[in-house]
Amino acid sequence: MRVWILRDYSKCVGCRLCEIECSLKHEGLIWPAASRIRIHESIYGFPVPYLCVQCDDYPCVASCPTRALSVAETGAVLVSEDSCVLCGSCVSACPGKVPKIVRGKKAVVICDLCGGDPVCVRVCESIGFNALMLVRKPGGEVVKSYLNNPIETSRDLAKKLGVV
Ligand code: SF4
Ligand code: SF4
Ligand code: SF4
Repeated sequence: MRVWILRDYSKCVGCRLCEIECSLKHEGLIWPAASRIRIHESIYGFPVPYLCVQCDDYPCVASCPTRALSVAETGAVLVSEDSCVLCGSCVSACPGKVPKIVRGKKAVVICDLCGGDPVCVRVCESIGFNALMLVRKPGGEVVKSYLNNPIETSRDLAKKLGVV
């Protein structure tokens, strides 16, 4: 089933538990640098959760010269760690530069939607912030917003409250 993570920027408090949970699940240790979700806080007090939006045309997948990227049933981009050569083509092709090259990793890291049960969403819900919400659409359609520039988004949020 196709799933998607809806983000409500106004509810994020920047606790970064999502980064911790993501790295624990995927790397087995607390390693926020390797988290597939990142919290950008270019203006203090206005954190913006940032992660892959599963583009309709998947330019990252198309750009990979070694076919290391594929699309899962959930809509997530999957990375074959054996095939990725860290050339950076997917980073250049992504409109938001979402794929991450992380020191100590042999392949890029991209959100895999945790197989359809995202732990980042679960932790955000469990502490009552609900900045991340899972959208399930059996028919394949998902409600999506598009990639925002996290720096501009943080500024826009601050502007709305008259902080900048
Ligand atoms: S867990 Fe939720 S509230 Fe905390 S930083 Fe992540 S998205 Fe924001
Ligand atoms: S990594 Fe970037 S280009 Fe690829 S699906 Fe995600 S947002 Fe789109
Ligand atoms: S859905 Fe899973 S892989 Fe994607 S950012 Fe959340 S915890 Fe990380």
